[in-house]
Amino acid sequence: MAARPTPYLDDLNPAQREAVETLDGPVLMLAGAGTGKTKALTSRIVHLLSTGKARPNEILSVTFTNKAAREMKNRVGGMLGGAIEGMPWLGTFHSICVKLLRRHAELVGLKSNFTILDTDDQLRLLKQLIVARGIDDKRWPARHLAGVIDGWKNRALTPDKVPSSDANAFNNAGPSLYLEYQNRLRELNAVDFGDLLLHMVTIFQTHQDVLEQYQRWFRYILVDEYQDTNVAQYLWLRLLAGSHKNICCVGDDDQSIYGWRGAEVGNILRFEKDFPGAHVVRLEQNYRSTPHILKAASGVISGNSDRLGKELWTDVQDGEKVRLIGHWDGEEEARWIGEEIESAQSGSRGVRAMSLDEMAILVRASHQMRAFEDRFLTIGLPYRVIGGPRFYERMEIRDAMAYFRLVVSPDDDLAFERIVNTPKRGLGDKAQQTIQRAARENGVSLLNGAAIAVEQGLIKGKGAAALKELVVGLARWGRMSRNVVTVESDEVVDDLIEPLASEPEVSHVELAQIILDESGYTTMWQNDKTPEAPGRLENLKELVKALESFENLQGFLEHVSLIMDNETDDAGAKVSIMTLHAAKGLEFPMVFLPGWEDGLFPSQRSMDESGVKGLEEERRLAYVGITRAEEVCTISFAANRRVFGQWQSQMPSRFIDELPEAHVDVLTPPGLYGGGYGAASGMGGMSSGVETRATEANVYNSPGWKRLQERASERPMSQPKETRHQVIDATAVSSYVMGERVFHQKFGYGEIIGIEGDKLEIAFDKAGVKRVVSRFICAADD
Ligand code: ATP
Ligand code: MG
Repeated sequence: MAARPTPYLDDLNPAQREAVETLDGPVLMLAGAGTGKTKALTSRIVHLLSTGKARPNEILSVTFTNKAAREMKNRVGGMLGGAIEGMPWLGTFHSICVKLLRRHAELVGLKSNFTILDTDDQLRLLKQLIVARGIDDKRWPARHLAGVIDGWKNRALTPDKVPSSDANAFNNAGPSLYLEYQNRLRELNAVDFGDLLLHMVTIFQTHQDVLEQYQRWFRYILVDEYQDTNVAQYLWLRLLAGSHKNICCVGDDDQSIYGWRGAEVGNILRFEKDFPGAHVVRLEQNYRSTPHILKAASGVISGNSDRLGKELWTDVQDGEKVRLIGHWDGEEEARWIGEEIESAQSGSRGVRAMSLDEMAILVRASHQMRAFEDRFLTIGLPYRVIGGPRFYERMEIRDAMAYFRLVVSPDDDLAFERIVNTPKRGLGDKAQQTIQRAARENGVSLLNGAAIAVEQGLIKGKGAAALKELVVGLARWGRMSRNVVTVESDEVVDDLIEPLASEPEVSHVELAQIILDESGYTTMWQNDKTPEAPGRLENLKELVKALESFENLQGFLEHVSLIMDNETDDAGAKVSIMTLHAAKGLEFPMVFLPGWEDGLFPSQRSMDESGVKGLEEERRLAYVGITRAEEVCTISFAANRRVFGQWQSQMPSRFIDELPEAHVDVLTPPGLYGGGYGAASGMGGMSSGVETRATEANVYNSPGWKRLQERASERPMSQPKETRHQVIDATAVSSYVMGERVFHQKFGYGEIIGIEGDKLEIAFDKAGVKRVVSRFICAADD
C-alpha cells in the first residue's frame, strides 16, 4: 500500500515516534505522568489505520473507563480527518468481554442472552447459599463472601483452582460456596462482573480454536493505564497476544492506584519476561505541567521505595509554584475555593481568566464533595461530579433521606417503599403486597397500612416483628422530632407505641443519627465487607454533619429537594468535582487538592496498616493528583473537621511535609488580616503569600497558622463555629413580603412574586423567574 502523508507523526517527539512506528512485536511504554503516553497510543491507532496495517475492527484497544474510550475514538477520528468506520473493539476490559462472551457463552454453560447481575442480586444469591448451609449470615455476611470471591476472580482463579492456602476463607466454607455460587449462576443463566473476564480466560484456555480465531482477528493490541490491570486481565491479554505478540502497553508504575481492587503493578515487570525482546520506550519530557508542579510531584513520589524510577523534565520555563494553604475548617476551605474559582473566572487573581471547564477539585474521599456541592449551590457556581453520582444522589444518602422523609411526613409512600426492607427485614414482595392492600382498603398511607397489618397479624414470620419495630420506630422518631405525629388514624400507631409515649427531646442532628442507628441502617453498612462500604459510612457521617447548618429536618429536606430541582441542565461550563481515582489520565489547567490531612489523605486505613504498602499507594495517589494540574495547583488542609457534631483537630498531611520547599508557596489563610470573608475579593493578601519552607513545622510557624491557632484558643473546639452560612440561616426565616426587592449572589436583583413557606419565587431582573430558598437571598438594600 502506498504510504500516505503522516501529519500526526509531526506532533510527536522522537521517543513517542519510536513507540508509534514500532508496530510489530511487543512494546512497553513506561513513562511518567503527562509525557504523552495516551497521545502516543492514539497516534499508534491512527498509524495502524493509515498505513493499512490494520482495519478498525482488527485493533483491540483497552482503556480504563468508557469515557476514556469515547475520547480516544474522537481523537482518532479527528486525526484521520473524521471518517473512520467504528472501532468496535475499543473499550474497557469489561465492555469488550461482554461482547466476546455473548458470542461464546455456550462454552461455559451459558446462553448468549445471559444477564449480568448487579451487586444487590449478587448479594441476595450469596445470602441464600449461606443460609442454606446453616451459616449465621449475621456473623458471616454475604458481602464478606462477595469480597472473597471477587478476589479470586481478579486472580483468574476458578473454584477448582483456589489454592489450599485460601481453604479457610469465609470460615472454611469459602471455596465450596464459591463452587456452589458459580453453579447457581449458570442455572440462572447469569454472570457477575468478575465473571466477564474469568469466563473469557477460561474459554481461551480450554478452546484453542476460539483463542486462535481471536489471535488472528485482533492483529494489534493496545492497552492504556497498564499499571492498573489485575491478574485476570493480564492473562487475558497474554493469551490474545500469544502468537503475533503485537501488543503495546503503556503505563506508569508511579500511578498504580487500584491495588485495593486487585491490580498488580508487578504485571509491568512480568511483561518483559513474558514477551522477551520487548521494545521498551521511556518518555521523559512532560508536556502537561509547569516546572514547579512537576518538581513538587516528583518530590512527593520520591518518598516511595520500589520504584522503577524516572525523572521528568519540561521545557516550559515559568509558572506558579504549587500553592499551599491551611484553613480553619472544611466549610471555610470550600468557601475559599469557591471564591478562588470565581476570581480565576474573571482573571482577577493575576493569571489568565479561565473557564469553569478548566478547573477541577480532586478529593480523596467522596464524602468531601458534600461541602463543595453545598457551597457551590449556595453561590450558584455550576459544577459537575465526575465518575459517580452527586452527593445527594448516592444510594446510601437517598436511603437515609427516605428515613428522614418518613419521619417528617409519615405518608410519603415512596420513601416507605424505599426503606421498608432496607436493611433487610424479611419483608419480601408478599409482605409488601399485604401492606399495600391494608393501606388501600383503609384508605391510608403505607406506613399506616403497615401499622394495621401489624395490629391485625396479617404479616407472618420473622418479618412481623421487624415491621412492628420499624413502625414503632418511625412513630417514636416522629415524636422526638417534636413534629406532632401526623399519621392519619393515629390510634393504631399510638396503640403500638403507648409505652413509649414520652420521648426525650433531642436536636435534629442527634435525631438523624438515632434514626440511622436504630433502624439498623448504619449496622447494615458496618457489616458490609465490600470496598465501597467504608466510603458509604463516611458519606452518612457527612450527611449528618450537613444537617448542622439547618434548623430542623424539614428545612434540610427542602434544601435538598431544591438542589435536585435546579440542577438538571447539562449545558454550559462547569467546575469538575471528582475523586483522585476518577481523575486518572485527565488534565486541567487549574486543580484544587483539598483535605490534605493525616487520616483523610493519607487515609486512616493506610496509616493503620502495619507495612508501608498502603501508604505508598496513597502517595501514588498524591502524585496522580498533583500531575493532573497544568498551570495552577493548590493544596489545602483544614485545622478542624467536624465528625458527629464534635470538632476534631486535624494534622496537616505527612505528604505536605514531603513537598519540596523550593516549589511551594505557603499562602496566608483568608480572613486573618482584613476583616474576614466580608472582604471576599481580598485576594491581594493571598497572592503575596509568605514564601517559606513547606514543611509541617513551617506551616505551623507561618504567621497565618499562628493566627489560626490564636483563633482556636479564642473559640473552644467543641463549640460550633459561627459560619457565614449559619448567619444567613439565622436571618432567613422567611420574613420577606410580596413585591420586596431582593438580591441573590448568582441571579442578581429581583422581586418576590410568590412565597411558600421558606421558598420564594422571584422574578430576577436578568435571570428570569426562579424558586430559591430564602436563606440564599438577602434584602436588596443590605
Ligand atoms: P497520564 O500519565 O497522566 O495518563 P500521559 O502520559 O498519558 O499522562 P497525555 O495525556 O498523552 O499524557 O499527554 C499529556 C499532554 O501533553 C496532553 O495535553 C497532550 O496533548 C500533550 N502532549 C503529548 N505529547 C506531546 C508532544 N509531543 N508535543 C506536544 N504536546 C504533547
Ligand atoms: Mg494517559
